[in-house]
Amino acid sequence: MPDVDPEEFRRLGHAVVDWIADYRAGVADRPVLPDVQPGWVREQLTPTLLSAGLPEEPQPLAGLLDEIDRVVVPATTHWQHPGFFGYFPANASLHSLLGDMLSTGLGVQGMLWATSPAATEVEQVLLDAMAAALGLDASFTFAGGGGGSIQDSASSAALVALLAALHRSNPDWRERGVDGTERVYATAETHSALAKAVRVVGLGKQALRIVEPSPGSLAMSPDALAAALRADSEAGLRPVLVCATVGTTGTGAIDPVREIAHAAAEHGAWVHVDAAWAGVAALCPELRHLLDGVELVDSFCTNAHKWLLTAFDASLFWVRDATALPAALSITPEFLRNAASESGFVVDYRDWQVPLGRRFRALKLWAVVHGHGLSGLRAHIRSHLALAEKLAGQVREDPTFELAAEPSLALVCLRVVTGDGPESDDRATRTVLERVNASGSAFLTHTTVGGRYVIRVAIGSLLTESSHVDALWESLHDEAAKVLANDPDDRRDPGHSGSTHV
Ligand SMILES: *Cc1c(COP(=O)(O)O)cnc(C)c1O
Repeated sequence: MPDVDPEEFRRLGHAVVDWIADYRAGVADRPVLPDVQPGWVREQLTPTLLSAGLPEEPQPLAGLLDEIDRVVVPATTHWQHPGFFGYFPANASLHSLLGDMLSTGLGVQGMLWATSPAATEVEQVLLDAMAAALGLDASFTFAGGGGGSIQDSASSAALVALLAALHRSNPDWRERGVDGTERVYATAETHSALAKAVRVVGLGKQALRIVEPSPGSLAMSPDALAAALRADSEAGLRPVLVCATVGTTGTGAIDPVREIAHAAAEHGAWVHVDAAWAGVAALCPELRHLLDGVELVDSFCTNAHKWLLTAFDASLFWVRDATALPAALSITPEFLRNAASESGFVVDYRDWQVPLGRRFRALKLWAVVHGHGLSGLRAHIRSHLALAEKLAGQVREDPTFELAAEPSLALVCLRVVTGDGPESDDRATRTVLERVNASGSAFLTHTTVGGRYVIRVAIGSLLTESSHVDALWESLHDEAAKVLANDPDDRRDPGHSGSTHV
């Protein structure tokens, strides 16, 4: 059965591009959050896809677009909305979309160099160039003996870092697997992706050591880390990996990478730096301090798919030893053998990740850097930093609110102050968050700091400008004033909590 004729594709493609352009042009006018109950989408699709079954005959594209308007858009959280302040941003710029179209247009599988040389070498060159733009040490580049790859997620990056660390720690690991003496170090603020990776590799939770923060901070204490490493080594356990976070998900805390690297080096542990959200800010020379000490670690990850305008998925992941991942992961069945791989002159990215197949992700990152230029990317980041600084100043000056942690880059964590103690503050803060979210003009998520409920304002969406942050502040302020005036009803505990470490 032939695919769409290329001339017909031209027509259909224009219709889809028009649809996307209209959606983006109007996204700010929609409520950020959908107003649907669980099961609503299924109910809507039941007559068309479930009762009637999947279409037996080909259908025109227009009908699909109608269904997307009818069912998908009303049940969509509008992540590209300028009032989206939840989790961390997931910028999906239109330049990146164009790059993604080119990638899918080529339709290649980049698992081996030989399966499409451009897919591999463009990625290598781009990651070397991005390393330079971020100010990463040259030892992370292919030219310097290391190298970068684009993973699907920071979670996958943490997983493959752990696999490389297990192999380096015990060359017998490929044969015999883990032996239960392995230990992995993180803090309570480390992203849950690491805890998941520990389970995925078969170590179980018992292998994960939660290192205390330095007093008065949420960042890892290097002294506590050194003590834990020493105690474990003396007990015959094997420190395999330390994960340092630059910009934790909860509050943006920054672990002291340099000291962590020194402590880990004494025990031969691999150090992985997870800078999924914050790392891209190092494109701005005045923020290079974020990478202090990273030249000493084994691997570094930052997501282009959060704050750097590149549609999910594009997690930039560098290692300082280009042989580490293939040594741990390479398995070559006969059908993948080829002269280029055997020459040793090429990178086969399948050996840098868990799956075999891989998308040509580099094109969307290239399209972003090409289309915005580094100056445009820096302006994007700096504009959000300025908005966060202004918001933090407003919080400091308003007795109804307080900062729950030092603002970090474009993340501001705040809570309502009722004057009636922590429980009352928590209830009031939660009520304010729920009301702001119900307003439709903004979307916020929360976390807990020291057991206390906290609103996170993560500034960084594509279209967010000062007017949107001003409107958010007004809305926070007004809702808090109402809650404080209407005590005690609005401070009643709705009875749930939890954190949003996504
Ligand atoms: C968002 C985030 C992650 C997870 O990112 P994915 O790419 O979705 O896996 C990991 N670590 C930190 C610090 C994050 O902020």
